Amino acid sequence: MILVSSCLAGLKVRYNGLDSLDETIGRLVEEGRAIPVCPEVLGGCSTPREPAEIVGGSGEDVLNGIARIIDTTGSDVTDKFVQGAMETLRIAREAGATIVVLKESSPSCGSSRIYDGTHSGRKIPGMGVTAALLHREGITVLSENQLERVFKA
Ligand code: SF4
Repeated sequence: MILVSSCLAGLKVRYNGLDSLDETIGRLVEEGRAIPVCPEVLGGCSTPREPAEIVGGSGEDVLNGIARIIDTTGSDVTDKFVQGAMETLRIAREAGATIVVLKESSPSCGSSRIYDGTHSGRKIPGMGVTAALLHREGITVLSENQLERVFKA
């Protein structure tokens, strides 16, 4: 069993109320081979919501308490995002998932690039907070661009 970002499975949970459907991932969920999770919704964020970015570092830095997650209104949503990451880890463990496929560039789900915290559209190398927590706990974190590795595993 693997975990996948809910938005990639076609659920309308993105900050703007839309999805990011990847048809292969949608099929895996339909066939009962993957469980959809949205860390931000699990952490108590509403949909739609203001877009948020990590300010002052990466998801790893958020977990270490040296970076924060701030939305476009200036609200600090760090606690909700960390809560969602912890809840996602709990679900992954319960399902026995050793691989997750998460949406690239999200402040929660990004696995190799995230927005730079200026809300300018620029990206920097780094993981989102959920990706960083799962990676730290030994789970393989892939993006939708690395799906072939799921089928090789
Ligand atoms: S937190 Fe992850 S699953 Fe939820 S909308 Fe953002 S990228 Fe998709």
